[in-house]
Amino acid sequence: MTIVENNLPSLNDLTSHSKRRGFLFQSSEIYGGIGGCWDYGPLGVELKNNIKESWWKAMTLREDIEGIDASILMNPTVWEASGHVESFHDPMVDCKKCKSRFRADKVDLNKACPVCGEKNSYTEARNFNLMFKTQVGPMEDTSSIAYLRPETAQGIFVNFLNVQSTMRKKIPFGIAQIGKAFRNEITPGNFIFRLREFEQMEMQYFLKPGTQLEAFEEWKKIRLDWHKENGIRPEKLRYHVHEKLAHYADHAVDIEFEFPAGWDEMEGIHSRTDFDLRRHQEFSKKNLQYVDQLDNNNKYTAFVVETSVGLDRTILAVMCDAYRVENPGDKESERVVMRFKKKLAPIKAAILPLMKKPELEEIAMKLFKDVQLFCRAEYDTSGSIGKRYRRQDEIGTPYCITIDYDTLTDHAATVRDRDSMKQERISLDKLSLYLKDNLL
Ligand code: ATP
Repeated sequence: MTIVENNLPSLNDLTSHSKRRGFLFQSSEIYGGIGGCWDYGPLGVELKNNIKESWWKAMTLREDIEGIDASILMNPTVWEASGHVESFHDPMVDCKKCKSRFRADKVDLNKACPVCGEKNSYTEARNFNLMFKTQVGPMEDTSSIAYLRPETAQGIFVNFLNVQSTMRKKIPFGIAQIGKAFRNEITPGNFIFRLREFEQMEMQYFLKPGTQLEAFEEWKKIRLDWHKENGIRPEKLRYHVHEKLAHYADHAVDIEFEFPAGWDEMEGIHSRTDFDLRRHQEFSKKNLQYVDQLDNNNKYTAFVVETSVGLDRTILAVMCDAYRVENPGDKESERVVMRFKKKLAPIKAAILPLMKKPELEEIAMKLFKDVQLFCRAEYDTSGSIGKRYRRQDEIGTPYCITIDYDTLTDHAATVRDRDSMKQERISLDKLSLYLKDNLL
């Protein structure tokens, strides 16, 4: 087990732990996998759903934000208007000797090829469009071309007026969405950091021109706080201000996490001016202007501040941050523990009858069913109690509840806390309330 200097697990350790414990599996593994795609296992999908829920609640339990769920396939003109057909590409180089492909901006072109070691081996950089092309319907001609969306944002822009008018929203207001996005990345990798199929959680906030800087500053703070509320240690988070801005942006900042491979982007917050809505007006020839009833029915094209976070990168950050090896090297007390924030833990409680005896199992099974009514629990009878505790530590279960022979007389169970490992005796009829108080 290697813990790298900055107190994060190595990516290899995390990848194998994730597989061993049912968080993530390589996609189509029995066929050798496919680059840039991963499957979430039984624990991974619980963690993912909990993070989605945390984001969705933070966004939509406000009076000024509505949610949508737009389709992945869209009219291809959307991607002309957004600029993706023309310019959503990365510069690509090949090694002339081993034919490996690299993103030109991610390798040092003056150095030897990192795969085969050949010097001065790169081809000239050429642009590679990252959108996946497909076709819609039975005709294979240019009129049937469609793209798998490379970002969820455009589904929000094209629905701006639908949401505004049906929900009677007044500017400023936002639209939030969680969904899959696809990018044919030249070099996917670093586990689930760079994928070809991934999920984004995006929110576009529509504003009166001139008010964008204030909103940008506000969202910058709200979004950093959200990552902290998910339990990520503040010292592993920082802002990275973009010095070079995209032509349509007037402010941009990333929230970075210190991944095992170094600091890198987890979320982007961008002030995008009125670029998107203006382009969609131009290409669709539909009027997308907002009539400001609070300001003499003034008409304008809304400005946008967006927050765009990768769900998979957030999961990676949460897992890296939660993964701890305590007392390494000490045979007795070494343990791997995923210190997830309780609300994110895939399994909230484990119900453990001390022995496989009917009188204990009857009580334990009843408790398991009661607990499952309000949170995800596991029932485990196999192995010593110490081993069962360790297994739950490894998947980050906040509470282990043991039913033993004393339970038969005192109608109480031993509750062990994942982090402090302290145990307390709690009466069976108060257990559900105890868990609700401490978990939800
Ligand atoms: P990068 O520079 O890493 O390619 P980007 O700046 O192109 O990312 P955005 O287009 O701003 O990323 O996307 C917003 C968020 O979506 C990113 O902060 C990241 O969390 C996530 N994301 C983007 N591309 C991928 C990918 N290939 N795999 C996983 N998540 C991604």
